[in-house]
Amino acid sequence: MPRVAVIGAGPAGIAAAIQLTRAGHDVAVFERDRAGGNLWNAGFVENYPGFPGGIAGKNLARLMDEQFQDLGLAPRNADVREVRKSGTGFTVVTDKEEEFDGAIICTGTVPRKAGFPGEQELVSAGLLHYGISRLKNLAGSGDALVIGGGESSMDMALSLAEMGQKVVLLHRSEPRGIKRLLDEVAGEDSVTLLQGTVLGARIHGEKAVMHLETSTGKEEKPFDLVLVAVGRERNLPALEGIDADDPPPGLRMAGDARHGGLGQAAMAVGDGVKAAMELGRELGK
Ligand code: NAP
Repeated sequence: MPRVAVIGAGPAGIAAAIQLTRAGHDVAVFERDRAGGNLWNAGFVENYPGFPGGIAGKNLARLMDEQFQDLGLAPRNADVREVRKSGTGFTVVTDKEEEFDGAIICTGTVPRKAGFPGEQELVSAGLLHYGISRLKNLAGSGDALVIGGGESSMDMALSLAEMGQKVVLLHRSEPRGIKRLLDEVAGEDSVTLLQGTVLGARIHGEKAVMHLETSTGKEEKPFDLVLVAVGRERNLPALEGIDADDPPPGLRMAGDARHGGLGQAAMAVGDGVKAAMELGRELGK
């Protein structure tokens, strides 16, 4: 029975692993965090068929994980550092090395940094995050700054508003996204849109003091929390003898790891199933 490694258990990896298992492959899933991937950061998902009225990202992640566990597909908690072409198969390198006949890389994306002075200090102090998935117990009506301008930043701003935060959404260009989301943000009293850039940041007491430049000039503003959502980039393990954009036989890329940060769970799922079916045929199942 061909052994297949699925690397990453976001929507693409989950779908690929389910499909491979159905086809009778011996599947090992590697995941360094928890199954569900970036869905944990999605406030609300409206375009995933089967959920009339939409579904909270974290609930969809939980359901995917449940289906996954039901099939006995619990991922191995491991950070895949490298995937190497080796003979007719592939070596997957974690803290050990394992051989597989085929592999599907579904390692998604990582958030981009905003790049202003003081960003890393805010991260270290726990005042700045790149997603909402790990935010817990936000104190009442704190002041939050979301830096972005795309759909992720709007989704995060709406989630924070729902958690009782007063949110400033700082965008350097015209906000871009689907009309429904733009309208929702515009209609949310707890979210204020502000055009401008961050010049720097410092910590004062328990606050992040942000040095902003807006149309009214330069000013410093304190925030209890800063979220950065300025886009995402492909997240790949080191690859040896493998071109991610032209993968060799026996290997597939799926989801956002394949086509950049399109950030659509429905697309990643379809992509994962397609990769699994193609690979299955190739490996003779
Ligand atoms: P995005 O669409 O690429 O938007 C990134 C935003 O950040 C842009 O407004 C960009 O402004 C700004 N930006 C980039 N670098 C910056 C910097 N250094 N400082 C300040 N601002 C900066 O990324 P995204 O919002 O993560 O969305 C990615 C994909 O995920 C999209 O396809 C989206 O549809 C999908 N998604 C959708 C939802 C949803 O709820 N519908 C939620 C999450 C993600 P410039 O234009 O000036 O570069």
